[in-house]
Amino acid sequence: MPELPEVETVARDLRALVVGATIVGAACDWPRTIQTHAPDAFAAAIAGRVIEAVGRRGKRIVVELSGDRALTVHLKMTGQLFVVPPEAPADAHVHLVLALDDGREVRFRDIRKFGRVGLYARSEVGDLETEDGGASPLAELGPEPLDPAFTLKAFRTRIRGRRGRLKSLLTDQAFVAGVGNIYADEALWRARLHPLRTAPTLRPDDERRLYGTVRGILEEAIERRGSSIDDYTAPEGDGSMQERLDVYQREGEPCPRCGRPIRRILLGMRATHFCSFCQRLPAVDRPGAARTLAAGRTRERALAQRATRTAAASSRRGPRWTEMAAEGSLGLTPAEAARAAERARAERTRKAAASRRAAARGSTGPGAPPDTPRG
Ligand SMILES: [Zn+2]
Repeated sequence: MPELPEVETVARDLRALVVGATIVGAACDWPRTIQTHAPDAFAAAIAGRVIEAVGRRGKRIVVELSGDRALTVHLKMTGQLFVVPPEAPADAHVHLVLALDDGREVRFRDIRKFGRVGLYARSEVGDLETEDGGASPLAELGPEPLDPAFTLKAFRTRIRGRRGRLKSLLTDQAFVAGVGNIYADEALWRARLHPLRTAPTLRPDDERRLYGTVRGILEEAIERRGSSIDDYTAPEGDGSMQERLDVYQREGEPCPRCGRPIRRILLGMRATHFCSFCQRLPAVDRPGAARTLAAGRTRERALAQRATRTAAASSRRGPRWTEMAAEGSLGLTPAEAARAAERARAERTRKAAASRRAAARGSTGPGAPPDTPRG
């Protein structure tokens, strides 16, 4: 799912393309996409409004409109935004189209249809509200990690009031806005802090490192236009941060710091990646983490056994030429074979996602090609 750097990239691209344009109409074929209005009411409420600014809050894009209105876009799993001429080919995955006065269209493409859009009024104090005065989802968000007001002191005050595990805390949008699975894993690895470690065990120096790595990884990722993993792409092309990630989706690969294999556990249904040597768990946190870590080891053993069975099956029928020629397929231990299989699977997933993004771009018209972003 796109996180702060990816959403920031989309917002910046969009800003350069649409600020100053007037929205003249809207069409939506999947009503659930719009959280605040029925499609017709949404079209009536947004038509005639000028796009004054495009920003971001947490993982949402916030489009400021004339008449003190704001449009929020949450990309969720597979949402993509494109700005295209009207003759760009139709695309079955585009569920919301905003028509602009110069003829172009802002298209919200969303294969899984989890993305959500909302139209809110800006109150006198600057908050977003629904038509009947209800709060917007932005009201629940914690501070922006890159805001100058989010100082080390502010971070310390915040984390010292919490008891949770670091991974869960960092991905809690009410604790700090915009950090998700990718950048939480990366920031914790850089700070040498175990994802299952609890906040009260942090020493002042740990807090300082974590504060620095969270902000550092987010800034670096924005510079690289985010991580183009799965379906994420921006109006002006893919990001390249995925090449710089040290642990995320790198289970079994050597830790860039110590060479030991990167581990993967499930925490609240989400995959969590870390190095158990570089990111030590304090003794006081071990009993509470034992079950989660044991489940991770069980999974690793199951992968290794599957690799052994595969190897045994192929030795019964004798190796094929193609298998003998495959680099690195001979002489591996079951654990190594499991890791190689896992890497190959991850690589296939990455390639499939890249071709899906390229296809989306092709079908949605003349944007920049994915590998040569403009600007
Ligand atoms: Zn390590």
